[in-house]
Amino acid sequence: MDLNLLTIDGARNAVRDGRTTATALAHSFYAKIAQDDPKIGSYLTLARERGLAKAAEIDSLAARGETLPPLAGVPVGIKDVLVTRGVRTTAGSKILGNYVPPYDCTAVTRLEAAGAVVLGKMNCDEFAMGSSNENSAWKPVHNPRDLSRVPGGSSGGSAAAVAADLAVATLGTDTGGSIRQPASFCGVVGLKPTYGRVSRYGLIAFASSLDHIGPLTKTVKDAAIVLRTIAGRDPMDSTSAEVPVPDYVAELEKPVRSLKIGLAKEYLAEGLDPEVRRAVEDAVQSLSELGCEVVEISLPHTEYAIATYYIVATAEASSNLARFDGVRYGYRAENVRSLSEMYRRSRDLGFGAEVKRRIMLGTYALSAGYYDAYYLKAQKVRALLTRDFEEAFKKVDAIVTPTSPTAAFKLGDKTDDPLAMYLADIYTVTANLAGIPGISIPCGETKEKLPIGMQILGKHFDEATILRLAHAYEQAA
Ligand code: GLN
Repeated sequence: MDLNLLTIDGARNAVRDGRTTATALAHSFYAKIAQDDPKIGSYLTLARERGLAKAAEIDSLAARGETLPPLAGVPVGIKDVLVTRGVRTTAGSKILGNYVPPYDCTAVTRLEAAGAVVLGKMNCDEFAMGSSNENSAWKPVHNPRDLSRVPGGSSGGSAAAVAADLAVATLGTDTGGSIRQPASFCGVVGLKPTYGRVSRYGLIAFASSLDHIGPLTKTVKDAAIVLRTIAGRDPMDSTSAEVPVPDYVAELEKPVRSLKIGLAKEYLAEGLDPEVRRAVEDAVQSLSELGCEVVEISLPHTEYAIATYYIVATAEASSNLARFDGVRYGYRAENVRSLSEMYRRSRDLGFGAEVKRRIMLGTYALSAGYYDAYYLKAQKVRALLTRDFEEAFKKVDAIVTPTSPTAAFKLGDKTDDPLAMYLADIYTVTANLAGIPGISIPCGETKEKLPIGMQILGKHFDEATILRLAHAYEQAA
């Protein structure tokens, strides 16, 4: 049994049946990380002490013959924008280079309460701003399928680690595609739940009306298991919804026959790589062979999505990032003569170029005189984009799209052209603007053996249906 290849169920069962121990499992992952991660770069910080203490706790439960919790001994990685008590959390930024949080993110608390073992913190773009992981202040992540290529972003470390068997599952965050796009680039499963489904307490905010936490896993079933564990109302996050959480794993087995899936013509238009188009069309064909009915739909405001997203996201970011001023957390510039110089120097030296670009864009969009023209206009278009989905979901149960217009690109390819980088988020940002759930699952490869991802979007709080479709496709493929 190769411990590093196990799924969540596989790992938990192996621990439960005494075929391995949680401690042996954790050691086997730490050994593989030591061997393989230097060339991939998916971890920023290892949480050895915390991970091994949790593993020992699971092993002593097992030794006493007690019933083990559902994720007993399962080694997981946590994106570095999610705070972990006593374990350095940098959000990929120099400004939080030495930050050791005094509390835990709720999603992490819930995973550990279910028995998971936290291995460490995953590399990501600075404050989750990016689509390639090249904005990490520490180091880039390399795609395990081709080390000359990016893993996607911003949850690039979370996706690469699962793809390279350096964690069984990881948590990522998704503000405009940061779980789904890296999942598609690395050939793993990534799920962005409905806005409000998972508590964001302990997530270092990028854009509060768009931020989501979700899993990256090897299988759809594993994504269902993690979602079931982390979902549900949390009094510490007032935006977390009081909506019952179904048993996503049980729901997977329901038939998909006669589900209606929508294909939006706007998502299969100009700019889409022909190989990606073909793979997604083949996947749709498989779904129709499973008995799904394919319906053509229209999402007419799609062309405005990128502009809308990059105004709303940067506006919220400029406000959220105001808290990093050298006073309470993180980096503080030395040898300054005044308070305002301290603010300025700390932010100038602490933030990277992309973060500064967004703070400036967002500040501009919110400034008196421009607010109506940009921010207010963007909010109106956001409502139209949301309405597009409401109309579509009157006709269909789910919508199938490519996750990204292309497969993984080369490191350095887009770093000089931020606009090209932004435009590639076209298929993912809409789900964040509308708050609907979306999953990316592998659906083939390019000629160069690079993974291609298919996205399935669902109705608000209907993760069960998209997981079910994804599972049915995965089993058939
Ligand atoms: N690529 C998008 C951006 O740069 C999305 C990032 C995210 O989802 N965190 O903003």
